[in-house]
Amino acid sequence: MLGGTYSRSLLVTDLSTIADWVTSADCVVAFTGAGISTESGIPDFRSPGGIWSQSTPVYYDQFLRSAAARYEYWRQKSVAHREFAAAKPNAGHQVLADWESAGRLEGVITQNIDGLHQEAGSRQVWELHGTARAIACIDCDGRFEVDPLVEHFVENDQVPPCPECEGRLKHATISFGQQLPTEVLEKSQELALRADLFFAIGSSLVVEPAASLPRLAHETGAKLVIINRDPTPQDGIAAAVIHDSIGKTLTAIASAL
Ligand SMILES: [Zn+2]
Repeated sequence: MLGGTYSRSLLVTDLSTIADWVTSADCVVAFTGAGISTESGIPDFRSPGGIWSQSTPVYYDQFLRSAAARYEYWRQKSVAHREFAAAKPNAGHQVLADWESAGRLEGVITQNIDGLHQEAGSRQVWELHGTARAIACIDCDGRFEVDPLVEHFVENDQVPPCPECEGRLKHATISFGQQLPTEVLEKSQELALRADLFFAIGSSLVVEPAASLPRLAHETGAKLVIINRDPTPQDGIAAAVIHDSIGKTLTAIASAL
């Protein structure tokens, strides 16, 4: 077993060591961000060309107060919905789903709203920012399918009312200025505390509170493995850092198991 100071260049090439860690760990947890889904063709909304570089996001309090803000919200979400609808899980999602069904992975905590982990077969998925695959009524707590309601918006150029109470419908995602779901956050922290091997995948690890989960896992004794295209502020505390394609890297680790 490796200890002390790691040589990053050694670890970058030594994916079989990470495979050994997966095999010997008691509790493996994965945390994922936008990077795992860009390999499915979903743009990172915050990157150049992403929707937030072209439109101003609608904050939650504006959404609650103003019909015009709700219209603008639905307009932006309908554009984004087209990209989600066409996206399919990639090799990275598949490896994590396979590990879960083989009993190697406890679950996935994700910043993503695209539902691709579930589509790949993952069952234990904790969505910090909610899901774009459902519509929620903020007045009666009803939940509805996305497609018919987005179609209603596009065809009528009008925000659809809740089919049950005529209240305000919103995608079941967490908006800017909206509280993260407490239950999901608590479960995520519990998993980070319990993990002895924690993968941080495709996240720049700068958005709080999500970014604190890998740090929490590390501080309570887990090995931290970071797989991300670009360097992150937590690379220095990781046991292994891989700046490469996520699908390719996870596939290579999986085949070394
Ligand atoms: Zn309702």
